[in-house]
Amino acid sequence: MYQEVKNYIGGQFSRNGQSSMDVLNPQTGKVISTVPMSTAKDLDMAVEAAKQAFPAWSSTPIKERVQIFYRYKALMEKNIQELSQMVADENGKTLDEARAEVEKSIELTEFACSLPQMVYGEILEVSRGVECRVEHKALGVVASIAPFNFPHMVPHWTIPNAIALGNCMILKPSEQVPISSNRIAEMLKEAGLPDGVFNIVNGDRAIVEAICDHPEIQAVSFVGSTKVAKIVYQRATSNLKRCTALGGAKNHLMVMPDAHPDMTASNVTASMSGCAGQRCMAASAMVAVGSIDPIISKICDEARKIIPGKNLGSVISLEAKQRIERYITEAENAGAKVLVDGRNWKVEGFEGGFYVGPTVIDFVTPDMAIAKEEVFGPVLAIMRAKDLDEALAIENSSEYGNAASVFTQSGGVARQVMERASAGMIGVNIGVPVPREPFSFGGWNESKFGVNDITGKSSIELWTKLKKTSVKWNPEGKTNWMS
Ligand code: NAD
Repeated sequence: MYQEVKNYIGGQFSRNGQSSMDVLNPQTGKVISTVPMSTAKDLDMAVEAAKQAFPAWSSTPIKERVQIFYRYKALMEKNIQELSQMVADENGKTLDEARAEVEKSIELTEFACSLPQMVYGEILEVSRGVECRVEHKALGVVASIAPFNFPHMVPHWTIPNAIALGNCMILKPSEQVPISSNRIAEMLKEAGLPDGVFNIVNGDRAIVEAICDHPEIQAVSFVGSTKVAKIVYQRATSNLKRCTALGGAKNHLMVMPDAHPDMTASNVTASMSGCAGQRCMAASAMVAVGSIDPIISKICDEARKIIPGKNLGSVISLEAKQRIERYITEAENAGAKVLVDGRNWKVEGFEGGFYVGPTVIDFVTPDMAIAKEEVFGPVLAIMRAKDLDEALAIENSSEYGNAASVFTQSGGVARQVMERASAGMIGVNIGVPVPREPFSFGGWNESKFGVNDITGKSSIELWTKLKKTSVKWNPEGKTNWMS
């Protein structure tokens, strides 16, 4: 059991008699905490605290601001075991996966520590004695809304960068996995972050809507499903806020006949089953180009080595398990062939857990729901294509556009995919092509709404506005139309 989750406002943890929801450990199905369902009033208090903190925080030099994140990074390293266990308990992923997630949070924080090297301004003498300078300035109070699948990492896509750049933040964690966020707040405070700079308001849709409507919030970042990303993007921007909203995904792996069989099989399987397929970068559809049956057979062998409860975590909820199994059954009924079947798994000693075993389905056709929709489980839907053009046509027809990968030994084929795949993140012989820092993360099409990516250098434009100043200190200087 964990302590009850609280809001964190102005440096204080609080729970003000709001209604609450149970938080379950998806590996056991048992209640491990409760989370408050806050109201717009709670959000008002958090925004007020952030607003109060903003003048002092934004006028602190950035080199001082990032010192807090150096200390915070050291705290994460020191407490990595505890943080990983917390992520595994609330999300259901394996301890190794949870540790990798926290390691990524550390890398994201390292990037924020390097921001002083990236945001120094520009200056130019534009005419004799007259100079123009450009500086990045913080926006004010900003908000970050997170999904369930990475309780620690996704908040770190936004917290270190937005705060190091001088903003004050309200985080709305997923109500399904709110425990890690309370620990983030404690550790930021321990690292020396002034009260009010970081705040948490827990809750569901009502808080997200209140964030989109709040007149004092300048920018909103969202990560979650496409359905909600669209709602948030439309509502936040119609209220004249900046918004970057990342949505769902359907990522295609194109496997060519010349692909390295062992490397391809292990990469494809890891991509589809890692974090129980609950990654927006997961390989959920594979396009087998030409005759690659031996590779498919190796993928099945690899998939059979993945055992729920051992090296495969659970999915987030009973509802998710039922949805995933429904997709498999519908595809089977429509004529697809289930080669490895993960339905109806029970893990001994964890009978209440929400487990789906690794599943490989062949002869899926592009019109089936499992080929088009986000399944978000450890399921690989294999479609057949006669050549690369047909494979790319399938990939291009997806509404989403987060990631696409090709497995091949041919540079020419790889180049074609790099050019022609309609996705923001491309892999060549890599099943999960997540760009590492300082490169930014963000998809195309219905996988992202808004101009900026959410991490890396691109996030600087999201979290700051430019101030342009023209200066003349020489009264004797000639005046012309530009000065
Ligand atoms: P979700 O959209 O259900 O929830 C995300 C957040 O929105 C949560 O904080 C939730 O409380 C809130 N929310 C839910 N319904 C809402 C509504 N109707 N109105 C306003 N707010 C609402 O997503 P999820 O199930 O938590 O996360 C899984 C989804 O996130 C998948 O689709 C996955 O692909 C996506 N995801 C995308 C990326 C990416 O980088 N593109 C990264 C991680 C997850």
